[in-house]
Amino acid sequence: MLRPVELEIELFCLGMRIDPQSHAGEVGRRIARTRAGLGSGLEILIPSTRKDIWMNVPVLEPFAAKSPYLMTESAGKFYVVDERTDESYPVGIPPEPKWYSRLTSGGTEMSRIGVLQGNYLGIYVSNRCLYWALTPASACKFCTTGKNVGVAEESRKSVDDVVETAIAARDESGSVFTHFNTGYHYEDLDSKEKMHGLTQCKPYVSAVRQRVGGFIGVQAVPMPKHRWDQYDELIDAGCDHFSFCYEFEDPEFFASLCPGKEKTMGQKAFFDAMEYTSKKLGKGRVSGEIIAGIEPLEATKRGIDRIVNAGAFPTVCIFRPTIGSEMEHVNPPEPEAMKEVFAYLYEACKRGGIPIGILPIEVSLVVQPEEAADLVEQSFSTRLYSMKNRMLRQLARPYVAWKQRPATRSATA
Ligand code: SF4
Repeated sequence: MLRPVELEIELFCLGMRIDPQSHAGEVGRRIARTRAGLGSGLEILIPSTRKDIWMNVPVLEPFAAKSPYLMTESAGKFYVVDERTDESYPVGIPPEPKWYSRLTSGGTEMSRIGVLQGNYLGIYVSNRCLYWALTPASACKFCTTGKNVGVAEESRKSVDDVVETAIAARDESGSVFTHFNTGYHYEDLDSKEKMHGLTQCKPYVSAVRQRVGGFIGVQAVPMPKHRWDQYDELIDAGCDHFSFCYEFEDPEFFASLCPGKEKTMGQKAFFDAMEYTSKKLGKGRVSGEIIAGIEPLEATKRGIDRIVNAGAFPTVCIFRPTIGSEMEHVNPPEPEAMKEVFAYLYEACKRGGIPIGILPIEVSLVVQPEEAADLVEQSFSTRLYSMKNRMLRQLARPYVAWKQRPATRSATA
């Protein structure tokens, strides 16, 4: 039998078929093709003695139709069956939140404002990423955002709609993290319309900090160096976390697969902003995001080291050839190669003393570093690192409870 993290990686790489007799598609969350399109799968829970693993299994892409994994249902319970071995793994299917189909006071269905990815709320705040509008085509080749924003989700989101959705996600789904992301938007200081993604996020960050509470993250392309005061302002407004998607460590892969990022800012801008914000916020509070399964494994490992050496948290996505992206016909990676990457990632975090698994935030689109603990040998240093993280998790509990209160309430308490 596979360990839970191994099953997770197998499913990310091979996808899953759904037995037409099962009701998985009816009881689960709707399949939301939003943001970069990675949420194109079925959200499931894999039981684990450490803690249940949330994951978003690819089910729509053509490779999933050839998967040896089949989701079945028996007596109201769900199983993932490996048809090569007949091994059967019980899994849970989180139900779709009731608030998804509720309207905000502005009249918009809440699922068009934000979606749960694991137990956190993801919100794409801006209009279509401008890389989609450049000539020649400059969008990242694995991305489908330009095809989703305005179709599967609202292109302009009011602050009140976002706050109402975040309150529903907090109260009814236990979300403790709201994550805002934007594509590429440059700033024109003479025009109120042309705002950098970071500037666009500011009113949402302030409102969620004041009226909702919880942890808040922002993902945007880097600000030019002379405007790094914008990071400071966002931190003052209540942002707890920044993430930087530099996607590929190998400069040639970066340039050819992210032509817009290469042309408008270059790879180094991501590292510089990541290092700056990591120093400001502290170890493990900023993440560098890369995609594994396209560039050589050694490059991915170098990327992980670079992120950890900057004091940041490596968020590694297993490449998914989402429908509608330029890379939709590229094969996803082999599970064994990805197990090697995540074992490496765990060891790198341990080496760098990066705290992992401290906050109760479950991300379904990636293998979280703490989940990878089962991929490495249990040595003395591994046990010590796990113990330290467990202690930090305990110590963080009062802080997490305090953070969950809106700032307006904390100030008047
Ligand atoms: S920056 Fe790249 S990945 Fe992000 S939305 Fe734009 S095209 Fe997509």
